[in-house]
Amino acid sequence: MAAYDPNNIFGKILRGEMPSLKVFEDDAAFAFMDIMPRADGHTLVIPKAPCRNLLDIKPADLSALMPRVQHVGQAVFKAMKADGLTLQQFNEQAGGQVVFHLHFHLLPRWAGVQLRPPGQMADRALLEQQAEKIRAALA
Ligand code: 5GP
Repeated sequence: MAAYDPNNIFGKILRGEMPSLKVFEDDAAFAFMDIMPRADGHTLVIPKAPCRNLLDIKPADLSALMPRVQHVGQAVFKAMKADGLTLQQFNEQAGGQVVFHLHFHLLPRWAGVQLRPPGQMADRALLEQQAEKIRAALA
């Protein structure tokens, strides 16, 4: 497997070199809105530790990350008044991964509502409204 490349897009977001709609940050994790959301409120949670995916993250860093995934997931579920929550995580290109910094997708779900296809850019104002609701649920 290739080594972690810090110039990936999420590495740049973590360092503040690229903009993002942040909803949560602490010493171990950073969470922000996905710009091509497959569901309203689609949020990404990433570790601050440098790693490509689940296959190379250090166990201690994964142990620190998962409670943050749960914490942000609870807030996304509440803020979006969802009926359910789908957690997705892809590893390497053949596993569906596009950005090579570990990330967990939090996808709010509603009964009878399918996920949208990937690759559709969201309206920025709508994303900001959803981010604000999630921040409020985390406060
Ligand atoms: P994966 O690597 O798990 O297949 O998915 C990468 C995810 O990152 C996609 O859902 C995509 O919409 C999202 N994404 C790609 N580039 C950016 C970006 O610059 N900013 C944000 N917020 N999300 C991005």
